[in-house]
Amino acid sequence: MPKRVYFFGGGKAAGKSEMKNLLGGKGANLAEMARLGMPVPAGFTITTGVCTEFYEKGGKLPKELTKEVEKALAGVEAIMGRKFGDPADPLLVSCRSGARKSMPGMMETVLNIGLTSATIPGMVARTNNERFVWDSYRRLIQMYSDVVMEKSAGIEPAEGKGIRQQLEHLMDDLKDSKGYKNDTDLTADDLKELVASYKAKVVEVLGKEFPDEAMEQLWGGVRAVFQSWNGKRAVSYRRIEGIPGEWGTAVNVQAMVFGNMGDTSATGVAFTRNPATGDPRFYGEWLPNAQGEDVVAGTRTPNPLNEATRSSGTEHLPSLEKSMPAVYQELHAIRDRLEKHYRDMQDLEFTIEDGRLWMLQTRVGKRNGPAAVRMAVDMVEERMIKSTEAITRVTPSQLDELLHPILDPKAEKAAPVLAKGLPAGPGGASGQVVFTAADAVKWVEQGKQVILVREETNPEDVEGMRAAVAILTARGGMTSHAALVARGWGKCCIVGAGEMDVDIAGRKFSVGDVTINEGDPISLNGTKGNVYAGELGMVVGSEDNPYFYSFMKICDRLRTLGVRANADTPEDAAKARGFGAQGIGLFRTEHMFYGKGTEEALFKLRKMIHAKDEAERRAALDELFPHVKKDIKGTLKAMEGLPVTIRLLDPPLHEFVPRADDERQKLASSLGLSLDELDARADALHEVNPMMGHRGVRLGVTYPEVTEMQIRAILEAAAELTKEGKKAMPEIMIPVTCDVNELKDQKEIAKRVHAEVAQKFGVKKVAHMFGTMIEIPRAALKADEIAEATEFFSFGTNDLTQMTFGFSRDDVGGFAADYLEKGILPADPFQTLDQSGVGELVKTGIARGRKTKAKLKIGICGEHGGDPDSVTFCHKAGMNYVSCSPYRVPIASLAAAQAAVAEKKAKPAKKAKKAAKKPAKKPAKKAKKILKKPARKIVLKAAKRPVPKPKKKTAKKKGKKKRGRR
Ligand code: ADP
Ligand code: MG
Ligand code: MG
Repeated sequence: MPKRVYFFGGGKAAGKSEMKNLLGGKGANLAEMARLGMPVPAGFTITTGVCTEFYEKGGKLPKELTKEVEKALAGVEAIMGRKFGDPADPLLVSCRSGARKSMPGMMETVLNIGLTSATIPGMVARTNNERFVWDSYRRLIQMYSDVVMEKSAGIEPAEGKGIRQQLEHLMDDLKDSKGYKNDTDLTADDLKELVASYKAKVVEVLGKEFPDEAMEQLWGGVRAVFQSWNGKRAVSYRRIEGIPGEWGTAVNVQAMVFGNMGDTSATGVAFTRNPATGDPRFYGEWLPNAQGEDVVAGTRTPNPLNEATRSSGTEHLPSLEKSMPAVYQELHAIRDRLEKHYRDMQDLEFTIEDGRLWMLQTRVGKRNGPAAVRMAVDMVEERMIKSTEAITRVTPSQLDELLHPILDPKAEKAAPVLAKGLPAGPGGASGQVVFTAADAVKWVEQGKQVILVREETNPEDVEGMRAAVAILTARGGMTSHAALVARGWGKCCIVGAGEMDVDIAGRKFSVGDVTINEGDPISLNGTKGNVYAGELGMVVGSEDNPYFYSFMKICDRLRTLGVRANADTPEDAAKARGFGAQGIGLFRTEHMFYGKGTEEALFKLRKMIHAKDEAERRAALDELFPHVKKDIKGTLKAMEGLPVTIRLLDPPLHEFVPRADDERQKLASSLGLSLDELDARADALHEVNPMMGHRGVRLGVTYPEVTEMQIRAILEAAAELTKEGKKAMPEIMIPVTCDVNELKDQKEIAKRVHAEVAQKFGVKKVAHMFGTMIEIPRAALKADEIAEATEFFSFGTNDLTQMTFGFSRDDVGGFAADYLEKGILPADPFQTLDQSGVGELVKTGIARGRKTKAKLKIGICGEHGGDPDSVTFCHKAGMNYVSCSPYRVPIASLAAAQAAVAEKKAKPAKKAKKAAKKPAKKPAKKAKKILKKPARKIVLKAAKRPVPKPKKKTAKKKGKKKRGRR
């Protein structure tokens, strides 16, 4: 029979930190801390296996558990020197949940179990502190009636009508009537009176007496924790985080230690480093004369842990460092030990009982993107971890946070601050105010951007917090629930903005005489904690972040897959280069005819399109030539020394036909035609199915002179740059091919033009490569033949996905959502590469191509090049590089590094063994150097547009027509 209960305490433990699956994170780490000889109150963990049994038995605990629990409890009693339920000197315990992965605030904990009318007098006698005992008792009633009697009984009270809130109202009323400000002002007699009214209220609301028997309380607590695993908010949190329901939770029963015994007692939460910035200094919050819940729930504004890390807003509050220096030193030493032991940032809970420190929890702390990056870099430098591990400490989406928008500093300077709070989740956001989680979800479904405003942090709000762009609360500290969750998601968040008067029912909040109603826009600066009325502009953040550069250096060193960018202008090219792109994987020629400043070139292109014969077309092409050459030259120059893949004209020509009357008129007169004649020519270009029509290489086959002009422009641009002493590396790429003969046809043109250009410039050779896109399934299948005529392949997975699925990229929005909702497809194949279908074609194409030409250079230039999962696929498939939008380059680099490291780990080769033996000295030194000299120069400031977020876009939006994105 499997062991169901694991004991810890007195410097020993049956469990250890590796046993998270069985003991949950909290239980495993409590055991580990006990083993390390740290001051942990004795206790025991009931395994997650029992949770499974509990649900299998339809909500009943296995009989055998009773004996094991009784035995473990006796062990706790022996160490603590007092007995559970003993009227003379009672032991009290807490009953705590703990899943494999931490789910902050999602499940239930009950403190002070074992206080009954029989044990209260003994407790008072021992502690000689009547007030403390009655305070503990009223807390027990509050938690127990909420968790055990209401929630786990399946009662769903109306908003604001929960038993816990009703009891809190009773306390507030009592405080008001006595003229008190703080909970701590309540005297023992006040609390006795309060307890009596609590008990009456419990009977009134729940129809049941509060249990007055210690063992009954304990088992009620255990059952409630198991029950809470399937509670509403835990289930929705699990769904968002992808935590399987089968895991179950463990239950930890632990001897109580009391932070609420007076001014020499306290409780707190700390992080071994700052989870919002990565600052390596010990960081945390504490409250004197309080129990843990008080700090976590954010009902009182907590004090700073030490002098060094005070944030603005806590200047006037006492630090633990000053208030209890000896205990602080002890805690600091434990902090150092724990971080070394776990080799990662820890999130700690501690309690001080009458001057004595107790550790109640440690776990790997959640952090946001900027903090994750800084910690990874710092820990390599401190030799705590190796660089191969450092890159696994940052997720692609955390890195993405560094590229996230912030409020435009100029707009911010001009705007008056409406309210100030604690900077819980950095970055900026603007949105319309909503006051409930349900409204947040609803409004976002209607396509609005909302900021969720709440009185205080509330774990029931997760769905709404997820939907909102940002979260703002009037109460709570940096370690409050909202802060933790928002940071985990990289969401902008401000908590504890105390000047705000929130009226949830009235759907408004006010600060002084300013009132903000539901739907009004506000803006948050989550880095500073500032709230503004109205919508402020946004800019891209993260410039001048040396940790970002250092981290990217580490990624670049570890990855084997190249990363290029898709860029069509010298500006984009420079930006991409700044982000570390090793070249351009896709330069779309047609882009020079789109957008502002392209009118002249576009006009000439239109002339070419409407030409009636080769002679007319050639004349138009001659006019167009200087524009094309200039454009290509600019980008080749910006990417000097790096390869630039230039794709020849790809879209169907009718896309360029003018629609506006004045433009048609202008074109007609320039060509010496009547409007009717022009329209007739344009009509001739009309196609029923242009996506599969006269486009790509097919244009070059019917109009060789179009190919000729483009190749001449490319080679002359390169030759001119070479003359200027600049290294140009153009790669000519033919789109939409399906057969080698198309390529042979085009290559003939390239050869002839090359000879002419070489002669014109008096050189033997103009360096370039000739290759093709693989974007038609047939091309992938015929890759062996196609490789004969080419030096490189670039998988155009946008079109390849379109043609493999038979889903029109322009029309997929009409049905994609249904496919995802019904689970017919696991993901939008245009966002995440369909590895089993389209991926098979990619692999086939690579294998067949390389069979013909082993050195064939292979890359990808679809939207997928910036999707982390797809990047991993490309690495495994043996590509040379991926190419993605400039802002995705860092993410692709990280994904590529992670893929390379994972692959090495999987191969237990000799090399890897050797490397493991080497001390971590070298990389540490290297990292230091890197930190000092950021090699990448990112000109984010120049980028005045917000970072594109290709991920979460709705399928509908994606499906919209977008020119020039083939
Ligand atoms: P959560 O998972 O929500 O953090 P915990 O089980 O850690 O819940 O408990 C909630 C609070 O109660 C924490 O602040 C914790 O430190 C405190 N607490 C839990 N057990 C004890 C105990 N035995 N003695 C004193 N405080 C405790
Ligand atoms: Mg809890
Ligand atoms: Mg906790």
